[in-house]
Amino acid sequence: MNTYHITVLKGDGIGPEIVEEAMKTLKKAGEKYGFSMEFREALLGGSAIDATGVPLPQETIDCCKAADSTLLGAVGGPKWDNQPGNNRPEAGLLGIRGALGLFANLRPAVIFPQLREASPLKSKIIGENLDILIVRELTGGIYFGERGRGEKNGNIYAYDTEKYSVSEIRRIARKGFEMAMKRNKKLCSVDKANVLESSRLWRKTVADMAEEYPEVELTNLYVDNCAMQLVCNPKQFDVIVTSNIFGDILSDEASMISGSIGMLASASLGAGKSGLYEPVHGSAPDIAGTGKANPLATILSGAMMLRYSLEEPEAAEAIESAVTKALDHARTADIASPQLPQVSCKEMGELVRKFI
Ligand code: NAD
Repeated sequence: MNTYHITVLKGDGIGPEIVEEAMKTLKKAGEKYGFSMEFREALLGGSAIDATGVPLPQETIDCCKAADSTLLGAVGGPKWDNQPGNNRPEAGLLGIRGALGLFANLRPAVIFPQLREASPLKSKIIGENLDILIVRELTGGIYFGERGRGEKNGNIYAYDTEKYSVSEIRRIARKGFEMAMKRNKKLCSVDKANVLESSRLWRKTVADMAEEYPEVELTNLYVDNCAMQLVCNPKQFDVIVTSNIFGDILSDEASMISGSIGMLASASLGAGKSGLYEPVHGSAPDIAGTGKANPLATILSGAMMLRYSLEEPEAAEAIESAVTKALDHARTADIASPQLPQVSCKEMGELVRKFI
């Protein structure tokens, strides 16, 4: 029987509550599909600052590197808001992504039929169901480029630099093509090639790679057009691949289409099989400890881990389908429905496990 070694970073706020439910759900899926999950906890974010003085202890990096994959809750909270920038909980998050070489961020924007009402888009625009995957470059581009400030003739200026190499573009584009191959074989590459030189290199590099994936239908969109298309005709998209800054903005826009932040999973992948799986939402300090947190985004992140890092697609599917069934029976407060009972974080986790 396969045993997977998973590092868990529960983090702060609602992190421990939601990760607990995801761990139990992964274990249950393992029992059903013939593998076992061993979890080892490590510290990240505010809890790490409290225990060790830094948001990302070396031990945490070592623990994640040694594991088959890592599951993360969320970090941050008002308690650590006055920490200097490089010692804030969020610095731990950027640090662990860098230390693990995670250059691709995968964010599905899915609308569950039961939650269609929560979407700000009209039903006729969403259609039967909506399932978009945004693949965002995570460790390059303007967020990591040269930056600075200066002064000329008494006028202060600041600059940031967008810079991508062919190898950086190729490795993220490859993830995009590979994901498209596993889905509906449509890839839309998003750039600003009408203005930016870095985008022109991006577009040419992606186009050159298309020959390796003849089954994938490749299209290109400028980022401003893509932002519009996401709200007027989102059904046209299967997989979107884009740079760090464009992906940051477009994935938040796509998240909102689903209408409920407590449902959105994500994965960050590097060159190997391992990855970092986490909900899109933050640590929700306003509801921490009240039992109101929705654990489904973290449970669905666990399903993504099974699919993309552990190659247990059946177990992943079982979790996703159990989540759908659970939504028919009860809701957490954030996605409450007058027709259905309202349940706590723990009860929602139990309900999902009942349907596995
Ligand atoms: P947030 O996502 O934590 O919360 C926004 C709103 O959504 C809140 O009202 C919250 O109660 C609600 N919410 C979020 N997740 C929920 C869930 N699972 N179930 C039910 N309701 C949920 O964003 P914020 O308030 O801007 O940030 C709070 C803290 O989280 C900050 O310290 C921020 O820096 C941090 N943060 C961390 C991450 C991360 O760890 N990846 C991401 C975003 C924000």
